[in-house]
This record gives sequence, structure tokens and C-alpha cells, in this order.
Amino acid sequence: MTERRVRVRFAPSPTGALHIGGVRTALYNYLFAKKHGGDFVLRIEDTDQTRFVPGAEEYIIESLKWLGIAPDEGIGFGDGKHAPYRQSERKPMYKQYAMQLIEAGHAYYAFDTPEDLEAMRERLKASNVDAKYDPITRSAMKNSLTLSEDEVKIRIENGDPFVIRFKMPRKEEVKFHDEIRGWVHVNTAQLDDKVLYKSDGMPTYHLANVVDDYLMETTHVIRGEEWLPSAPLHILLYRAFGWEDVMPKFAHLPLLLKPEGNGKLSKRDGDRLGFPVFPLQWTDPNTGETSSGYRESGYLPEAVINLLALLGWNPGNNLELMTKDQMIELFTLDRVSKHGAKFDQNKAKWFNQQYLRHTDNAVLAAELKKDVEAHNLSFSDAYILRTCELIKEKITFVKELWSFGEYFFIAPTKYDEGVIAKRWNEKSPLVLQDTIQLLRPLEEYTAATIEAAYNEALAKNGVANKDFMQLLRVCLSGVAGGPPIFEMAELFGKQETIARLQRAMDTINT
Ligand code: GLU
Repeated sequence: MTERRVRVRFAPSPTGALHIGGVRTALYNYLFAKKHGGDFVLRIEDTDQTRFVPGAEEYIIESLKWLGIAPDEGIGFGDGKHAPYRQSERKPMYKQYAMQLIEAGHAYYAFDTPEDLEAMRERLKASNVDAKYDPITRSAMKNSLTLSEDEVKIRIENGDPFVIRFKMPRKEEVKFHDEIRGWVHVNTAQLDDKVLYKSDGMPTYHLANVVDDYLMETTHVIRGEEWLPSAPLHILLYRAFGWEDVMPKFAHLPLLLKPEGNGKLSKRDGDRLGFPVFPLQWTDPNTGETSSGYRESGYLPEAVINLLALLGWNPGNNLELMTKDQMIELFTLDRVSKHGAKFDQNKAKWFNQQYLRHTDNAVLAAELKKDVEAHNLSFSDAYILRTCELIKEKITFVKELWSFGEYFFIAPTKYDEGVIAKRWNEKSPLVLQDTIQLLRPLEEYTAATIEAAYNEALAKNGVANKDFMQLLRVCLSGVAGGPPIFEMAELFGKQETIARLQRAMDTINT
């Protein structure tokens, strides 16, 4: 058989915001597709209309675009060769496949009412038997295996509600190779006759998923671990359709775990510990509740995909910071872990910090400029750029350019009380006064000349640098930590530096 072109798909259901676990699934599909020069397809699995949430599909698409992992094919992407990509729009296609299974004896009509099903469950519960619709219980139910052909025909013609169920073999060992977990064995005795199709013409997830993977020529199904229990049914469906030769390979990804490692990471963990679990901010249209997003929290998309890539996969060396191209080059499914990966908020911040340090100063300056202008302040582009250069090592998020660097634009009126209490004494105003006197005549105003003037003032008053340095910083910026002091003072300019020192002296002294 000739090698098929690699085609993978991300197939979310539009039931709300995309959780970062889902983003990771999309990312691994993306990396795998690119690594093999194949296609990454986005399919929207919206067969369950009761769970449809308006805006969720747009949210998913915007998230993938923001993260730089947009699909090659899907709604609004690619040439539409396999369109439509929304299952609700593919509705008319599925019936023939359900019928094909009935004709081949792999599926059957079932007419049981909700009451019939409830009665069956009660009956079985009473005798301590697993209450499921399966090869044993089906014989006591109202379906095309128990009713006469005529009755089935009449019921369908009368428009009686029905479902089409898969006829699960009774005790058969289903064995398949998972690209991450190795061989998986399941006995069909544990499975039930899943509903594949409903009389309203809608397929269920299982039928639509398998039919679409077949029609869209999917070669690898890379999805979350929660779908592993469905895989045996999907494999049996491929067999029942006679599509085994083009059956995709399966890879079930490990769970993303809570920071404590006890269970699946949820939105509640994010709320509890103060970190986003969604890529973008999301307002639930039903509850009106807004959840924070990585984008709005100031994360850079490159940092987010880098940190997610390593939650469940390792590149086989100690590399942590990787460009997307490096990830593509190194990505293999056999390096995806079988075990859940714990989410670590501090590590997430560390990634962002690293990416921020590598961000071009001009890009950061453009962001900072927006805040400067929003405060009705006017500073030159060169001043804003230099501020970014000086503080980028000190911050984790882009939005901190302003919150951290505000004192570059607005002189402080409050001074760190701890530092003042510890360092301020009767000599302090003298050192400040002398520094001001020595700065005033300077013609060349640079970090070096400022430092020299300050050192001279210290010497004159018999004060050691180690006892005054932090005080000088607080007088200039109001806060105890920041970039190199003299470079900062150089950027402020002579007049502003002197004004700040004078003001600190006046304020603190009184
Ligand atoms: N619609 C399923 C989901 O929401 C897709 C599972 C699969 O990839 O097969 O995750």
C-alpha cells in the first residue's frame, strides 16, 4: 500500500471555551501534521445540539489563530476539499452509513421509550446486573431484532421515534495498538449497544466521528485520554464498515493534572489558584460569568505553546525553550508520556518571562506607548524604548511594563517605608543635597558622571555606598528594586533627577 499523506484533525465540540487541555490536543496534532508535511484539519463536532453554546466555535478558531497553530483545513481555512466541516451541516450524509450497518447486520432499530429503558435499568439493578443495553438485555427490548419485520416497517412508516444502535458482539476481544500506550485489550462484554443515529436524522458522536474520519481521510487520531473507552467501538465500526485498511492510528494523550496532581485540571483550579485555564478571556453566554484568558493575562502565545508542548511530551534532550520550528522537528508520539502531567503555574510564568526577555524592544515599546498615551503623557519613542530595555529583565508580563515602570513617567510621591525606616538618618539630606549640587554643573550627564558625583557626595559626608544606595533608588523611583540606578537617572535627565531628589528630601524630611 502506498504511504498515505498524513492528515490529523482537531475535533472539538462547541460546548464552551476551549480548555488548555484541548489546546494541547490541538497543538500536538498541529506539530505532528507539520512534522510529517501533512494536513491539520479542524472539524466542529456539533451533533449534540442541546450542548451547543453560541460563540464557542468562533472562540476556538480565534484561539488557534492567536496561538499560531491555525488549521490548514476547516471552516474558513484551506480549499474546502472535504467541506462542510461542521457536523450539523453534514447531517444528510450520515443516514446512508447507518443504513449500511443495518443491512450488514451490524446495527438495528430500537423503539424503546424512555420509560422502557428506565424499567430495564430498574429490573437489572434489582438483580445486581450491570444495567446496560447489550447482547443480553437487547433480547428483552423493543427493537428490530425482537420485533417482526412487518412491525418494524409499520413503526417506521408511522413515524414512531427510534434510534439505531450498534450490535455489539457478545464476547469478543478487541485489541488495538495505541501509539502512546501500546497494546490495548478490551472485551466487548464490558461494552454496550451504543446509539449511533437518532430518528431526528442526527448521528451521535460515535457514528459521525468515525464516518468523518473516514471521509476526511484521517490517518492519525490524536485525542484526549477521555476518549480511550470509545476507541474499541470506533475500531469495531471501522471493521463493520469494511474500512480497516484505512483505519487511522490512535494516540490517546495523558491528562493535564491539577498542580497537586490529584485529578484533572479544571476551571475551578484556575479560579482557586489564580491562573487562566483558557487561551482567551471567555464570557459564558448562559451564566454571564467571565473567565480570564492567557492572552488577556499578558502571556505571549509563543510562551503558551512552549509550556503546553512540554506538559506531556519531552523532546528527548534537556531543551526547554523551543521555537515552534524546533518543536516540529523534535515532535514524536513515542515521546508523549502515558502519565498525566501536572500543571505548574510558576513554570508557566517562567516561560513567559523567558519569552518576554527575547521579545524585540521595539515590540515592547509599542505596547508600553499605549499605556503612556492612555495616561495622557507625552514621552519620546526613544525614552519609552530605553525604559523597556532597562526593565524587561525585571518583569514577567507585558502589562507590567506599565505597572512596574510607571515611575519612569510619573515621579513618585510615596517612598518605600521599610527602606526609609532602615536607612534614613541625619546624614541623608546632606548626601542628597551634595549630590544635587554636584549634578547641577555637569555638562556630560551620563551614568558614569552621575555615579562619580554621587560617590563624591558620599565621601564628603563619610557615608558608605552600601548604606545609601537603596535610599538613592527609593528617592528616585519610590520603590526598593529596579534596574541599574545610574542608567535610570541618565534616562530621567538631569533636571528630572534633581527634581526627584529634591522632592524626596522635602517629603521624607518632614
Ligand atoms: N468531539 C470530541 C471532543 O469534543 C472529539 C473526540 C475525538 O477527537 O475523537 O473532544
